[in-house]
Amino acid sequence: MAQFLSRRALLPLVAASLLTRPARAQARPLVVASFSILGDMVRQVGGPDLPLRVLAGPGTDPHLFQPRPSEAEAIRGAGLVVRNGLGLEPWLDRLVRATRYAGPVVTTTEGITPRRAAPAAGHSHGPEAPDPHAWQDVRLARSYVRAIAAGLRAADPARAEATSAAEAAYLGRLDVLDAWVREQVARVPAERRVVVTSHGSFGYFAAAYGVRMLAPQGISPEAQPSAGQVAALIRQIRAERITAVFLEGQGSQAVLERLAADAGVRPGGRLYADSLSPPDGPAATYEAMVRHNVGLMMPAMLG
Ligand SMILES: [Zn+2]
Repeated sequence: MAQFLSRRALLPLVAASLLTRPARAQARPLVVASFSILGDMVRQVGGPDLPLRVLAGPGTDPHLFQPRPSEAEAIRGAGLVVRNGLGLEPWLDRLVRATRYAGPVVTTTEGITPRRAAPAAGHSHGPEAPDPHAWQDVRLARSYVRAIAAGLRAADPARAEATSAAEAAYLGRLDVLDAWVREQVARVPAERRVVVTSHGSFGYFAAAYGVRMLAPQGISPEAQPSAGQVAALIRQIRAERITAVFLEGQGSQAVLERLAADAGVRPGGRLYADSLSPPDGPAATYEAMVRHNVGLMMPAMLG
C-alpha cells in the first residue's frame, strides 16, 4: 500500500517531465521487419504510428531479397529488428553483422518445432534445412504475434499497455481466422483435400489443416519440368480428380498454364505464400492473405 501511494505521488512529477521533453517522451523506436508478412504483424500490434521499415516488401520474394545501402542505414537506426529465422533471411543476418547492430532482435519462429523442408519442393534451402514458412499455420502465426508483442513492449515500454491491448485483439482475430479455415476445409470430402501448386511454402498449412499440397519439383519456380515429371504429375492430377492448379508468388505463369492445359485442368489463380500483395491487391494483410488463399482453394477442392 505504501508503495502504491508513493507511486501515485510521483505521477504529477513524471507528467511534468514528459511535458518539458515532448520529443524525447514521444519518440518511438524504429522497427525493421525482414519481409512483408512480418511487417503487417508488427503494424497490427504496434499501431499506425509505429515507425516501421519493411525490407522485402509486398511482392518481393524474401528468399531472394538483395538489401541495398539504405537498408543497412535503417538497421543502424533501428530499435528493434524482427526476423522469421529458420533460414528464410540469410541476407538479414549478414546485414546485422555488417552494420554491427547490437540492439534487440525478435525471431518469430523461436520456440516453434520446425518441419523439415519438403525434399521435392525445389526450394533453395536444401533437403536437410528446416521449413521456414511457419506463418502458413494460423496457430503458429499467433505465436509470431506474441513474440512480436513481447519485443515491442521491451523496446517501447511507454506503450506497453497499448501494445498488450492490440496484441489481445489481434490474437482474437487470428483465433477466428483459424476456426474459419478449419470450417472451410471441413466442407471438403477428405479424399478431395488436395491442392497442386508451384512452390513448397504450404507444408505448415498442409499439416495444420489436413490439406495435401502437391508441389512437385517440376513446377517449382527454380526449375523447368522434365517431360517425365510433367507426365507423372498429370497422371496424379487425373487420379486425384484435381480440377485446378495454382501459382505461388513469383512462380512462372507460363509453366503452370502449360501444365494446366496438358492435364486438362484450369489455372486456379495465384496463392500468396511468401509475401503480401500491394495494398490495393487481394492479400494486403496476413489475414486477407489467408482468406484469399483458402477462398481460391475451396472451389478447386470442391470440384
Ligand atoms: Zn518460400
